[in-house]
Amino acid sequence: MKKKINTQLSLIALVAILTTIIGITIVYYELFKKQVMDDLVQNAELLIATDAFPITNMEDETSAEKYKGLTIENLRITWIDKNGNVLFDNDADISKMENHINRPEVHQAIDRGEGKTTRHSDTMNMDTFYYAVLLEDGSVLRVSTEASTKLNVIFNAIPVIVIIVIVILMGCVFIGHFLTGQLMRPLENMAENLTDSTTPVYKELEPFVNKIRSQHEGILAAAKSRQDFTANVSHELKTPITAISGYAELIENNMVEEGGQVRIAGQIRHNADRLLSIVNDIIQLSELDSFEPQRNYEIIDLYGIVKESINDLKHMAENKGIRIICKGSPTTIKADKTLIREMVDNLVQNGIRYNEELGKVEVYVKVENNHPILVVKDTGIGIPSDQQDRVFERFYRVDKSRSRETGGTGLGLAIVKHIAELYSADIKLNSTLGQGTEIVVSF
Ligand code: ADP
Repeated sequence: MKKKINTQLSLIALVAILTTIIGITIVYYELFKKQVMDDLVQNAELLIATDAFPITNMEDETSAEKYKGLTIENLRITWIDKNGNVLFDNDADISKMENHINRPEVHQAIDRGEGKTTRHSDTMNMDTFYYAVLLEDGSVLRVSTEASTKLNVIFNAIPVIVIIVIVILMGCVFIGHFLTGQLMRPLENMAENLTDSTTPVYKELEPFVNKIRSQHEGILAAAKSRQDFTANVSHELKTPITAISGYAELIENNMVEEGGQVRIAGQIRHNADRLLSIVNDIIQLSELDSFEPQRNYEIIDLYGIVKESINDLKHMAENKGIRIICKGSPTTIKADKTLIREMVDNLVQNGIRYNEELGKVEVYVKVENNHPILVVKDTGIGIPSDQQDRVFERFYRVDKSRSRETGGTGLGLAIVKHIAELYSADIKLNSTLGQGTEIVVSF
């Protein structure tokens, strides 16, 4: 970026310098031309005022010599009679000079009293300026001088131009370096200290910087939650594995009392099941991360799924003397059937798991304001209000031992929330400690 700014600044300077120089040269040359012509007019007027022309006695050698002495450096004087014959020239042999009647300036002078022209000589690369004036006796006095052409003026100025260009370009590089340094400093400071929102940045860049900051915070948060998740997973897996290893060691060392093998085998199986549930839930969560809901949906009946789920969980509820009541009518939603079943299973299982003996779980499917709604309500232990937000976090449990005893992994509500997010469904949790919990999912 710095390099680009420097190059562009130098380029702008170069274009500016060149156009200025060309412009100045053109203006200067026009002034110069006018000055040369004015000088010629003055010289002619001087020659006439001093009675030098018309020459009255051409036979008089001394006076011709005298007029020759009139030569001023670079000033050519020509005197022409009214027919165009050259009578006098201070710079050339008049006998070799052709008739001048057709020279534009002579022509103009005879016609209008005075004439001006500029002729260009390619070989000399010079311009010749002519001024001719009609004298009283009808003859014409012409004065002329040579001067540099426009190109010559530019050409002569090249060394100066080059020096100016070099100096200005060096200035540009220096200023560019200084400016870009100043321009970039806040950005460099910000890059070094992305999290510090007090680092000032340009107002114009604020939306951009805020976006980067929030993305950065998001990345940090994601990294932190991944780290926490890995730590939690390892911890959760460790408990059943340690238990299995311990029971196996008892058998290995023949330390199981007579008839105790069945109990030990049961413990091993229980812990292995636990391990399996955790692993299944983790797999489920990681699959959800890469699940694309817009590609995997079908039109399904939410009420039908609820009935299937309740049917499968009937035994779990009956074991605790819990009644499940299901109310509603067929209600279609667009979603993946397996995921919605998973969601309903998790909610109903929680309703059973965290219920009181002989409690009840009510499940409703209804439509409110055109939104299909799923409600799972229990008469269970409830969730303390300060923990109601946290229960949707991965591995968060209000009562760890109760969750474990009943086969919970701490991932159920995290999975429910993830599935709801996939379908932009809204989850509300109402719970009163000791009275029960109601979870409402609105599609
Ligand atoms: P778990 O597998 O432990 O049930 P969840 O993610 O499903 O994990 O739930 C997280 C925690 O929220 C549970 O451990 C429990 O403490 C609390 N919880 C969930 N549902 C209910 C409910 N219906 N009633 C009371 N507490 C609940």
